[in-house]
Amino acid sequence: MRLFVALALPDNIRWQLRVLSGGLVGANRWVPPENLHITLRFLGEVDGRDAHYVDAALAGIRAPRFSLRLKGVDAFTSGQRVKAVYAGVEKQPALQHLHDKVESAVVRAGLAPDGQKYTPHVTLTRPKDTPLNKLQHYLAEHSLFKTEPFEVTHFTLYSSEMGSEQSVYTALRSYALSVPAGAIEAAAERGGTL
Ligand code: ATP
Ligand code: MG
Repeated sequence: MRLFVALALPDNIRWQLRVLSGGLVGANRWVPPENLHITLRFLGEVDGRDAHYVDAALAGIRAPRFSLRLKGVDAFTSGQRVKAVYAGVEKQPALQHLHDKVESAVVRAGLAPDGQKYTPHVTLTRPKDTPLNKLQHYLAEHSLFKTEPFEVTHFTLYSSEMGSEQSVYTALRSYALSVPAGAIEAAAERGGTL
């Protein structure tokens, strides 16, 4: 099976991304709202046994919850080719830490290390044929894009299957992030919930 580890996005954030999903020459297929996510680690084709080891290693991760905000738009290009257009993620050291923990868990489970620098993003489209000047126009138009902050409370192991129109992602298991030390006391003092 084809697997990846990712952060799901809350409904309201996926809703806010809708303003970005269109208006780019040469990009006809946009990631549908239900598929929008932030990849932490692409695992690729994994057999059942390795999937089991990866799941056990991911379940052992202890990391705190954090808040995140999507900010700006950018693209991965290769020469003149636009490979992917994405919404950016505001810098958040806790996300890099979580990524690093996922990376070491995956390697501990026996998979090959990734070795790439982690650039968190939400892919919006992988254009077939977008000229760079049209891309520049689109990026400039959306340069001030920013969502509300949202709380990341878990990360998820997904399978990815080929659908007729688009990939079909299935959440196989979610792993909870912990409430930071001090948050419970603070909530008690407020007389409220976390
Ligand atoms: P499709 O490939 O059909 O366009 P997809 O890219 O959404 O669909 P997958 O290829 O299964 O589906 O990818 C799942 C997730 O992993 C996506 O976030 C994708 O960007 C990421 N991903 C896929 N291949 C790689 C790779 N080689 N390296 C890093 N991330 C990858
Ligand atoms: Mg792909």
